Amino acid sequence: MNKTQTNQEWLKIVTAYLNRQTNLQELNEKGELRTQEILGYVQEQSPFYRDHLHTKAGSQSAFKALDGVAFTTKSDLRSANTSICSVPFDEIAMYYETTGTTGKPTPCPRALIDVETSGAYVQNAMKEVYQSTFGTMRALTAIMGPSELYSFGDTYGEVCRNLGIPFVRLWPESPRVGLEKAAELITDLGVRSLICSPAVALALARFYKSIGIDPQKTSVGQILVLGELCTPEMLSNISRVWDAHCTHGLYGSQEVHAVATGCPEGNLHLSETNYIAEILPNNGTNSDMGELCLTMLVPGAKPLIRFRTGDLAYLYPSSFCKCGSQSRCIRIFGRVDDVMTIGGRQMFPASIESAIFKAVDRVLGYQVNVKVAKNGTDELEIAIVSQVGDQSIDQIEGQIAGDFGVPVRLLLSDQLDPQTETGAYISWKHARIRDCRLTP
Ligand SMILES: [Zn+2]
Repeated sequence: MNKTQTNQEWLKIVTAYLNRQTNLQELNEKGELRTQEILGYVQEQSPFYRDHLHTKAGSQSAFKALDGVAFTTKSDLRSANTSICSVPFDEIAMYYETTGTTGKPTPCPRALIDVETSGAYVQNAMKEVYQSTFGTMRALTAIMGPSELYSFGDTYGEVCRNLGIPFVRLWPESPRVGLEKAAELITDLGVRSLICSPAVALALARFYKSIGIDPQKTSVGQILVLGELCTPEMLSNISRVWDAHCTHGLYGSQEVHAVATGCPEGNLHLSETNYIAEILPNNGTNSDMGELCLTMLVPGAKPLIRFRTGDLAYLYPSSFCKCGSQSRCIRIFGRVDDVMTIGGRQMFPASIESAIFKAVDRVLGYQVNVKVAKNGTDELEIAIVSQVGDQSIDQIEGQIAGDFGVPVRLLLSDQLDPQTETGAYISWKHARIRDCRLTP
C-alpha cells in the first residue's frame, strides 16, 4: 500500500468508528493485528526503534503483540531525538516540539495521516459539544493557547474552519496580546466560547473581577479546558465562576496527539482507533489506577511504542458516561512525579485539587504550602483567592483537614496579579505546591 492508500484506509477506520459503523468490540478484535503492523512499521522506518524494541526487557503486557516489548520513556525520546522519527522531514505535514518543561524539547513532526486521524476525534467532539451548548456552530470562539511550535492553535483552528465555527486567536501570554487586550476583545466581540487552560480561565475571571466586570455577565457561555490537570471539581468550579458550560477540550500532548476528547457531560473519551492504552501498576495505589502507557497505532511521522506518558490514569467503561459515546472514559490524576506524601499518605495532584474545590464554593486561584508543624507533623497552608461568602473559615479548614488527615490553615488572598499564573505551563506542582519540608 502506498502512503495515500494508507491515509485513506486509516481515515475510513476512524470515520467508520466515529459513525458507529464499527463498534468497540470489532475494533478490539483488530487490535493485535494493528499492533503487529505498527511494530513492523517502526522497525523498518525508525532508526531508534530498529534497535530498541527488543534490546531492553519490557514488562509483560495483556496485549500479546506487546508482551515483552521494551517501553519508550521520555528520556529515550530526548536521547533518540530525530532518530525516533519514521519519515524524513521532507515528507511530514508539520513540525512541532514539546515545550521542554520536563527536560530538553523533543521533535514532534506530524504527517498528514497524524493530523487527520487525530483531528477527526477533536472535530467530532467539538461538534457534539457545540451542538449541546449552543445548538449551532455559529458561536464566536477564542482559541487561547500558544501557536508557535505547538500544535494547539493549528488543531483547533483547523477544526473550527471545518465545522464553520468562527474563531479568533487570543493568546493572553503573547507579548502582542496580553490579558487586558484578550479580556477587552472577548467582551467587545461577544466571544461565546473559550478554549484555554484552567489557569487561563481563572486568570481571566480574576482580571474581569478586578476591573469590576462579573465574568458571569459576559458573553461567554462555554469553556473547553485543556493543557493541564483538571479535576471534575475544577470543571464545575470554572463553570460556576463563569456561569458557563465547561468541559474538557482534549487530553493529549505534542508527542501523542489527541489521546482523548471531552464530551458534553464533562468526561474524556479515548480516541480508541488510534491507540492501545495500558495502565501500568503504580506502587501504593489500587491496581486499576496507574501510569498511562500508549502505543500509537497510526503509521505516521513518529508513532511511539509503549510510551510511558508519566500521567496517572484510570480507564472506565463507556457506560460510565451517559453521553452515548462508545469509547471508554479516561480520568487523569496528574503526573506520577507530582505525587506527594502528606501526613504519611500518598496524595495525587487530583486528590489535592479536589479536596480544595469540594470545600470552597468558588475559587479563582489556589496554592498549597506543605510545612512541618511545631510537633513535627505535616501541616498545610492553603492560599485561595475566593469570596468565601456564607462559609466559615473554620468549617472549610475542618473539611479539607479531614480529607488530608493533617492540620490545615486557610489564607484568603486578595486579587492576585493577573499575570502571575504562568507556572501552570511548567507543571501543576510547580504552579500550585510549595513543599517547605526539609528533605533528609
Ligand atoms: Zn461522555
